[in-house]
This record gives sequence, C-alpha cells and structure tokens, in this order.
Amino acid sequence: MPRDPRYDILFESVRIGPVTAKNRFFQVPHCNGMGMSYPSTMAAMRRMKAEGGWAVVCTEETDIHPSGDLTPLIEGRLWDDRDIPVFARMNEGIHEHGALAGIELVHTGHRDACLYSREVPIAVSHLPVHAGDYPAQARAMDRSDIRAYRRWHRDAALRAKRAGFDIVYVYCHAGSSLNGDFLSRTLNRRTDEYGGSLQNRIRLVREVLEDTRDAIGASCAVALRFTVDDQIGPDGEADMAESRAIIELLSDLPDIWDVNVREWRRDSMPSRFGPEASQEEFVAFVKTVTKKPVVGVGRFTSPDTMASQIRRGVLDFIGAARPSIADPFLPRKIEEGRIDDIRECIGCNMCVSSDFTIVPMRCTQNPTIGEEWRKGWHPETIPPRGSNDGVLVVGAGPAGLECARALGQRGYDVTLAEARSILGGRVADESRLPGLATWGRVRDYRTQQIQRMANVQVYLESRLDAKQILEFGFAKVVLATGGTWRRDGVGRWREEPVPGLAEASVYTPEDVFAGKRLEGPVVIYDDDHYYLGGVLAEKLRSEGLEVTLVTPGADVSKWTQVTLEQEWIEERLYRIGVAIIEKHGLAAAARGEVRIQHIQSGRERVLPCAALVMVTMRLPNDALFQALAADPGKLEAAGIRSFTRIGDCLAPSTIAAAVYAGHRSAREMDAPPSDGVPFKREMIALE
Ligand code: ADP
Ligand code: SF4
Repeated sequence: MPRDPRYDILFESVRIGPVTAKNRFFQVPHCNGMGMSYPSTMAAMRRMKAEGGWAVVCTEETDIHPSGDLTPLIEGRLWDDRDIPVFARMNEGIHEHGALAGIELVHTGHRDACLYSREVPIAVSHLPVHAGDYPAQARAMDRSDIRAYRRWHRDAALRAKRAGFDIVYVYCHAGSSLNGDFLSRTLNRRTDEYGGSLQNRIRLVREVLEDTRDAIGASCAVALRFTVDDQIGPDGEADMAESRAIIELLSDLPDIWDVNVREWRRDSMPSRFGPEASQEEFVAFVKTVTKKPVVGVGRFTSPDTMASQIRRGVLDFIGAARPSIADPFLPRKIEEGRIDDIRECIGCNMCVSSDFTIVPMRCTQNPTIGEEWRKGWHPETIPPRGSNDGVLVVGAGPAGLECARALGQRGYDVTLAEARSILGGRVADESRLPGLATWGRVRDYRTQQIQRMANVQVYLESRLDAKQILEFGFAKVVLATGGTWRRDGVGRWREEPVPGLAEASVYTPEDVFAGKRLEGPVVIYDDDHYYLGGVLAEKLRSEGLEVTLVTPGADVSKWTQVTLEQEWIEERLYRIGVAIIEKHGLAAAARGEVRIQHIQSGRERVLPCAALVMVTMRLPNDALFQALAADPGKLEAAGIRSFTRIGDCLAPSTIAAAVYAGHRSAREMDAPPSDGVPFKREMIALE
C-alpha cells in the first residue's frame, strides 16, 4: 500500500551538522540491559531498528572513564581502544541499512559508586553517591580534575569516531552527568570560575561541546542532550527562565538538541499516568530559541500525532525509545501504508524494569526484542510451518493469542478456542481498570492480525473439556488456559491459609472484574507487589468505598519501582484517600474484621473489614492439562502428537512472559526436541 501523503513530512531528510538523516525517525539513547555485557545481543537489537527504518539509532549512556564507572548497571563503555570493536560491529549493522549511528557519552559523576573500578567517584562538589544509596561519597573536582575530565571526553569522542559513529552526544542532566551537575544551581556549590553565576556554571558544558566539536566536528554531528526542567529555582520548582537562558547561550553550539524532562518517571511516563506526547508542554519552547534541529520523545505511536508535532513546529525529529522497542519496524510500516500492522507500545515499562533488574531488555508487546542474536528471532518474519498438522490453541489470553498469531504467520491451520465471549483473557479484564485502557493493545494488535488470516479460526464461548479435545483429533494441542487468583491469603509472606476466612467476606480480583458488589470498609491484602493491588484500590475507592491497602512490602506496589510507576501509584492512592499500611502481613480474618501483623515486630492490629480482597498469587488453570496428561494412551489414540501448556497455565507470571511463551511455542512448533541451552551465549574470552 502506498504511504498516506499526510505522513510525507515524516520522511523528509534533515541535516544534522555535517551528516544527514534520511527521515525524521530518531531512536534516542535508551538503556537495554545488554550493552557491554551482551555486546552481540545489543548490536543485533540496534541493527534491527535500522532495518526497520529508523534514520538515527543511538546507544545507551556510555561511560568514558573508570572514575565514572556505572556498574552494576549494564550500559555502554568506552574507556579505551579495546572497547571500540563492540561499537564498530554495532555501527556496521546500523550503516548497512542507511541509518546514522549515535553514541551518548557520559561521566555520571556522583550518581554511581564505581563499584567495579573501585576508583573514588568525582563530582562537581562533595556529594553523597546517589545510586542505591550506596554509603560512599564523591569528592569535589579541582581544576586538574576538570582538565582531565575534558581530556577523557575528547578522547572518547575520537574513539567514537574511529568506531564509526556519525553523532556524538554531550550529555547534560543534573544528577546523571558531570555537565548537568556543573550547570545545576543546587548541586554546584563551587566558588571558582566554574561555580556561582550562570556564566560560570555553564562553562564546563560549553568547553566540552567545543572540545567535542574541535575533535570530531568536521565529520560527526555533536548532539546535546539537555533536560529542560533541571534548573531548580529558590521555590523548589523548575526555573524555566534559566533553562531558556541556557539554550540561548549555547544555541548553535551543538548540531542538534535532544531535549527531555528531568525525572525518569516523567521522561518514560507510564501510560497509566500520562498520555502520548506528554512532554510537549515542557519542550515546545526549545525550537523558538535555537535554529538547530530538535528531537524529543513522548511515547509516540500514532503517525498523526507524529506528523502534527513536526507540522506545528514542536519537534524536527520524532524521538523514540519505547515505541522503537515495541515495534522496531514502526517507520517502515508508516512508509508502506501498513498502519494497522504497528505493534504499539502500551507504556507498561517492562522494558525499563530490565535496567534495574540488570538483565537484557524484554518488552510486553515485542517478544523478539533481545532475541535477535541469541535465538535469531526477527520481529517481522518467521520461518514457514514445519508440517501440515492442524493446531488447536485453547485459551485466548495474551499467551494463546500470540501463539495463534505467530502459528498463523507460519502458515499453520490454527483453531483458537476461547471459553468467554471476548478475547484477551486477563488483558481484557485488566485493561478495564483505571488508567490501563492502553494495555488493551496487547489484545487488539493480535486480534487484528488474526482476523486477516484465513488459516486461523477463532471460536468464542467454547469452553473445551478433555473429551472434546480428544474427539477433535488435532495433531497438536497448546493449552493456554491461564491462572486464577488464590482466595486463601497464601503468597510470599504466608505459607499457610489465613485462619478464620470461612467467616469473612473474601473476594479475588476475578470477583471484582466480574462486577461483584463489595461492601466497605474494604481491605486489599497485596502480597503480589506489582500493579494489581494498587489499581484495584484505586478502582474501589473511586466507587466511594473506604479502602485500606495492607502489604508486607516496604512500599505499596513495591515492584513497580522498576517500572517507574511506584511513586505515581503511591501519590495517587494518598490523594484519593486510600489508607496504606506497609510492612504488615495478614494474620487472621473474622466476620467484619481482619487481624494484621507487623512483619518485623510481630505487633498486631485489628482493622474493620466488610470485604477482604486477596491479591497474593495465582494458581495455574491446569485441570484440563492434568486430565489429558493422565492418560497418554488416549492422546496417542486421538492422534495428538504434540501437547503442551504455556503462559499462566504453566506458571502465572507477567503479561510480557505470557506473550513470550506464546511466541516461543509457535516458533518451536515442529522443532526437534532439545534439553540443552536454548540460545547462543556471549562468552568472555580469557586473556
Ligand atoms: P495467559 O496470560 O497465560 O494468556 P489468561 O488468563 O490471560 O492467560 O488467558 C487464559 C484464557 O483461557 C482466558 O481467556 C480463559 O477464558 C481461557 N480458558 C480457560 N480455560 C479454557 C478452556 N477449557 N477452554 C477454552 N478457553 C479457556
Ligand atoms: Fe512499551 Fe511496555 Fe514494550 Fe516498554 S515493555 S516498549 S513500555 S510495550
């Protein structure tokens, strides 16, 4: 299909100093948990973005010196020439597809504790180390340290050029980079020519920009990543007037401005708390101050929003981290007029969690991310079917839907049977909760794809039992029948059921989804620690019920710290009047009350409770599996040659894990059995 002319503007080429981007799609720097530890994985992932049509593909933050060692985070590293080959390999792949390669150089100052190098961290002033509240301090830099830092940055820029980069970043974010820390009115407590007035505080970033331009500027573009609300005024609020003054002072020094907002939780705004293009109000002024091109982000997934950003002069480039992860082929799909094929980011931030959990990135929507090299998975293509066998997939949650979609793409004849009258399983239920509508895209993308496949038949209101499955005679059966929340309080903190439940009014999340009416006061017992306990509290409170959320965790929805949602959740729950009791387990229940216990002191309290909602753990819906597995002879007689269970029906987990399981089972259909390591590994050569 030809491209919609409304989007032509997105495919204009744009000059960035000495280089030219072929279109306006710009994959801005983003961490990925691969970097220096899994370099082949990282290189293949970036290469895929270039193949998908992004004009610029950047690295993650890349530390330039052992005194700015950001271990244990896994990011890029460019300490000396031995680090060049990793990036040279990545850049080869990026250039193969006509894209430009960018690198974000950084010295993180007092943010990181140099846990690998064991150097003493350096900073603009004497400051405590930030990351992980590690009990160490960074020392204030003297003039010779500043000279050394400028030299390291310049050397790193030269190395970047030798590695083949086209764009070299100077990173300026208060709290994450020396450049930003020197600019900061609050962190910079110096009394020399680098401290005090704005003219003094801006000196270092100006020098580093000039050094970089001098070193590589003839052939590489110099980018400045600048956080527009970093400057804090005496009232504790962002001093946007000073930000404007900084952009005026540096205006044409960089070849491109990459602008964003200070707090990561706002920069990678979870969809539950902010819409697409949520940074526009903060960054729109930048283009009125500089003539250089400007790139910004905003979880852009709609081509109309993207085109509007350019047309209205908000941005010159559509910057993206998450949308490029969920769909590395987003630009090509717009270019080829295949808008319905876009796998839209849902803003869940599972990708971000990988940075904190220090593992290669995963994505709820794109099960192939991170698997490009080690499993050879491509996000758009998949090997043709390995046999003519028909496949029955039972259950149309995220696991079953993705399995049916990918099997259909492989060319199998697929029958997808779903007990309910709607598709989506848990996603259908959870996306109706406050703020989670966008998550419904996990179902919608797959449903739309399946609808166009003549070889995939979907049957709703078809709850299958073992007898029916045996009668159907499909050669292959995949069970994706999901899981069910426990009602008895057993979870991480409790290993035995809560005493007294028979007298209490106990509900599970499924009861709430089914619309059961609860009486207040409600106690939600959350020993799951992800989003569901918090979001159910929000829903029930917004219906006017008195709600107390009790959790053994130190924070409400504790795990959402790694998806950048925790602070938003806690703020919202306090604002709407949910009572939060942390570090307490559920000791006992009775009619009209529950007894809770402090997890360390053991001290008990009684709370009034007319409805107790248990969010602790789920059990697999595996009765069907067990019934079929009990008699292998019957399976054989029915002609069932392959019989598996996937997703929550095997072991309940995240939606991302269910999608991955569905995809994997489709990829591995008809593959020879193997019990070895199921992927290629990155091995470190001994010196
Ligand atoms: P997952 O996350 O593993 O995909 P879900 O719980 O989201 O799991 O989805 C499981 C789906 O399977 C639900 O939509 C449920 O209605 C459906 N299901 C469960 N048992 C059966 C069955 N026996 N026959 C057909 N569908 C079933
Ligand atoms: Fe988007 Fe979620 Fe994928 Fe991240 S994990 S790219 S937020 S869909």
